[in-house]
Amino acid sequence: MSETNPARKVAVVTGAARGIGAATAARLARDGFAVAVFDLDEAACASTVEIIEKDGGRALAVGCDVSDPEQAEAGVAEVVAELGAPAVLVNNAGIIRDNLIFKMTPQEFDAVIGVHLRGAFLMAKACQKHMVDAKWGRIINMSSAAALGNRGQSNYSSAKAGLQALTKTLAIELGPFGVTSNCVAPGFIATEMTAATAERMGITFEEFTGRYATSIPVRRVGAPEDIAQAVSYFAREEAGFVSGQVLYVAGGPKG
Ligand code: NAP
Repeated sequence: MSETNPARKVAVVTGAARGIGAATAARLARDGFAVAVFDLDEAACASTVEIIEKDGGRALAVGCDVSDPEQAEAGVAEVVAELGAPAVLVNNAGIIRDNLIFKMTPQEFDAVIGVHLRGAFLMAKACQKHMVDAKWGRIINMSSAAALGNRGQSNYSSAKAGLQALTKTLAIELGPFGVTSNCVAPGFIATEMTAATAERMGITFEEFTGRYATSIPVRRVGAPEDIAQAVSYFAREEAGFVSGQVLYVAGGPKG
């Protein structure tokens, strides 16, 4: 699809100011989608928008806290007005608040569930009506290998496992209307999120990634683009018979 093609479909990517979300937004733009770049701070979306526009694509920055029902609805309404009805939704926004269970506060638990799981629910709810009307849609949720359980992440692993259940339920409910729903579940990906974990552990990022890489069968950590290409697959026309699935992208077997 070219930029002038009126049939260009619209994709929404949350948490797209940086990391996996930014790479996914850029990839979907290269695939021909007009991309709404959602993040907490609209100004923080500027670099992703610039990358897409420099590459000849179309993008819109939207400041939105996905865990807030009114902001999710208003953000999607802005997309409809500026770009058109969303056909693809990538629920990628995320935070971590790691702690062992005996130290984790209810606030830390709720904050993580609120962004990952409630945020995905709210954004899917706001987008699905447009997809159902169009009889075509793709919902792609960013889970994690942590969904299988991870020390210090009772909040995060619960949210990521919950996202897999949400994905399967949306696949069942929305399938009759031409809408698929799938999960990408990354392993270790080098982003600011994992850099912050290294900092908390008091080691350099190079040391952290080096240690991790030895435990990964392909002997490297992932890059945001490794995840973006998996999202790109689920968003395609020809992936229309693939729904309710979880694809672990982790350099080795998981699940
Ligand atoms: P990142 O670099 O921290 O990016 C996450 C983005 O989400 C940030 O720009 C953040 O904004 C934004 N965000 C946070 N809360 C939000 C909210 N309420 N509404 C809208 N946007 C919000 O993280 P990443 O490593 O790219 O991870 C992206 C996704 O992949 C997350 O869901 C993460 O759990 C998942 N994942 C990552 C890895 C990994 O190894 N990196 C592995 C498995 C799964 P602020 O900067 O303002 O907070």
